[in-house]
Amino acid sequence: MDVMVVVDELLVNLALLIAGVTVITLTYQGTAARESPARLLLRYSATVTVAFVLLLHSAHLAPGLLFDFCGVMIALAARRYGLIAGVLVALPVALYRLALGGPGAWPGVISLLLVALLAGARTGWVRRIPRYSEDDLLHHWWVPAGIFGLSSLPTFLAFFLAGKPLLQAVPVYLSITALSALGLIVAHGVKQRRLRSLVRTQQLEQLVFVDSLTGALNRRRFDEDFRHPEQPAYVLLLDLDHFKHINDTYGHDQGDGVLRALVQVLQETVRPTDGIYRLGGEEFAVLLSPCDDVVVRRVAERLRARVQDLLATRAGLRGETITVSGGLVRLEGEKRAVLRTADELLYQAKAFGRNRIVTNLGRVTHAGDEGQPFSARVGSTT
Ligand code: GH3
Ligand code: MG
Ligand code: MG
Repeated sequence: MDVMVVVDELLVNLALLIAGVTVITLTYQGTAARESPARLLLRYSATVTVAFVLLLHSAHLAPGLLFDFCGVMIALAARRYGLIAGVLVALPVALYRLALGGPGAWPGVISLLLVALLAGARTGWVRRIPRYSEDDLLHHWWVPAGIFGLSSLPTFLAFFLAGKPLLQAVPVYLSITALSALGLIVAHGVKQRRLRSLVRTQQLEQLVFVDSLTGALNRRRFDEDFRHPEQPAYVLLLDLDHFKHINDTYGHDQGDGVLRALVQVLQETVRPTDGIYRLGGEEFAVLLSPCDDVVVRRVAERLRARVQDLLATRAGLRGETITVSGGLVRLEGEKRAVLRTADELLYQAKAFGRNRIVTNLGRVTHAGDEGQPFSARVGSTT
């Protein structure tokens, strides 16, 4: 057997492994996010497919002796999602191996199941939300060496069943172990690199799009989301009433506490899909989508009422009442005009006495009344 041909086949198999793992990592969304069953099923199918592709492109190590990296796919699945996931990937491959027959069939099956068992040993039966961890198998080489060192032992059984001298099995066993361990280190490295970049992206997004004081999304993110909302969408501009007085009376730090508490109250009142943004100072925006005219007015009023009832207490200012004023508009047409209108309505809410939301929803447009928005007071206690 030409050594160069073997090396060539091994490299092809390794390249297929790396390509397959790379494609699978593209299905990763976040690192700690709960994944949908559909996405997990897609990843499972892709993993099994890659395992079969590897199997079908085995390298001929010696006459009658095939090698491929499909065990690595099993090990990866088991390490990330637990023992059951590893066995689920191993089963179709094992069935195929059985169908091929020969003295190596059963030892092969045992070997594949051992990979799942050993790789999934420390992760338990099922790992629901695998988190990213700085797990570098290159520096923990004994883990892959251990997994494949033990799972390749049935090689000796295969030689025994074929009636060949066991001594001949030693170099085969050592090569299979070393190659598989190397394959797992490389594939794991590819996967970790992708996960690490996802973590970095999340951290950077946090820095770029989240207001560090309140935890609300920031103006930059608002400008992005505002441009492409899910229709029908509404924007509610909010501004704390007499906030300067709070700062002057209780100090700037306490004022910061009020801003943080406001975001908490807003978050508790709207759906997780609605966006809460700090546009600057004590001015906020809430993007509500999808929604309708009736519901959005009710939500805006609930926000106003909850701020009045809860905000001061939440900020540790028992006895105070802190309120908010707002301008509510539907997000349609020219974006800058929408914001201008919301701003005008907010200004009216202040002028009418604060602690109220002013909206132009339900407005009947007549020719000639452009620029004079009809204002419907949604809620007020003053
Ligand atoms: P109005 O009801 O008309 O909105 O009155 P107001 O006092 O809320 O409005 P004004 O614009 O006069 O004052 C806003 C205050 O918000 C002044 C500023 O010190 C304060 N402010 C802006 N950003 C921050 C911040 O990050 N932390 C704190 N504590 N205060 C802030
Ligand atoms: Mg204010
Ligand atoms: Mg203001």
